[in-house]
Amino acid sequence: MSQILQGVRELQDLLNQLKDAERRLNEIPDWMTELHQEHSARQSEIAALEEVAENAGRERRAAEAAVQDAQEKLKKYQQQISKVSNQREYGALLQEIDAVKVQISTQEEAALGSLDSAETAQKNLTELREAFRELDERYSAELARWESEKPEVARQVEALRLRVAEIKGSLPRGRLSQFDRILDRYPGGALSQIRIIERPGKGQREWHCSACNYRIRPQVLVEIRAGNELIQCDSCKRILFIEESP
Ligand SMILES: [Zn+2]
Repeated sequence: MSQILQGVRELQDLLNQLKDAERRLNEIPDWMTELHQEHSARQSEIAALEEVAENAGRERRAAEAAVQDAQEKLKKYQQQISKVSNQREYGALLQEIDAVKVQISTQEEAALGSLDSAETAQKNLTELREAFRELDERYSAELARWESEKPEVARQVEALRLRVAEIKGSLPRGRLSQFDRILDRYPGGALSQIRIIERPGKGQREWHCSACNYRIRPQVLVEIRAGNELIQCDSCKRILFIEESP
């Protein structure tokens, strides 16, 4: 096999390993995905309930302030009673007093209602936090385990990057950009192995691109075997290689 095809295959292999190592470094590892999801779900449940409790507290304070305002008003009206000079003023003042009394009882009820919801939310919150503690400890332990694995993975990433740079440096520019273009189009891999498909009826053996299944022309097979160039699939344009059995 040509040096160039060999180099390109090695490059692809290293890039795959690099991608995998970077994923292990930066993404929640598979073995803790489930725990991570559960942890996040419980956390948002707690956050939502905290908001409910806060809102109830705010509503309660607003209602209490409104009660106080209304009581001030009531006091003022009651002081005015002694000063009214006629029946009409007296009637109007009594109406004001009745209205403000209604306000007071409405706001007092609202304050009580909010106090109730705040207490319920607080109680549920305490229970949730209690239940969360064990999960949180387990999560922290797994996070620590992941963190402890990172330095080694980071070393692997570093070594792979160096090796990738080396191989890229050893490839002719034109071939490297050919490879890069194909890899841009197929981030999963720029290469495709060709495979034999037996046709029992016809007693024929045909070579196919294993990525797109397109048939390889006999002439192309010869070119791949000669190994002087990077040969691309006629259909998907991936670089073709053949794994000759020893
Ligand atoms: Zn193909």
